Amino acid sequence: MSTDPNCIFCKIVAGQIPSRKVYEDDELLVFHDIAPWAPVHLLVIPKQHIATMYDTGPQHAALLGRMTALAPRLMRDLGVANGFRIVVNTGPDGGQEVQHVHMHVMGGPRPWSKG
Ligand code: AMP
Ligand code: ZN
Repeated sequence: MSTDPNCIFCKIVAGQIPSRKVYEDDELLVFHDIAPWAPVHLLVIPKQHIATMYDTGPQHAALLGRMTALAPRLMRDLGVANGFRIVVNTGPDGGQEVQHVHMHVMGGPRPWSKG
């Protein structure tokens, strides 16, 4: 599995940096965002290091599908029953700050700090 020793999310996968985990399997990890925009703000990441969505292709369709399919299940488990947003920031113009693919899943009662 590809990892980047300088990547903060790879360090979270390796347990070198703590996180508030909500879900984990062989391929995926989900944890709470450290600076939430909404009452519930999760980050869904692949355990393998993939820098951006530009680095994904048809071979990642199943992985990306599993990431997406987790969102409603986890939000429901966390009591978010009135709606949520999924955001994947990609590249400089997309506002991506951490160069490891991650899906923001945000929900809970409004107002939210962003969006
Ligand atoms: P983006 O701008 O899409 O790259 O988002 C990166 C997100 O990662 C931001 O919402 C940060 O708050 C979040 N983040 C950065 N470091 C950590 C960390 N150690 N634990 C949890 N979330 C983090
Ligand atoms: Zn990484």
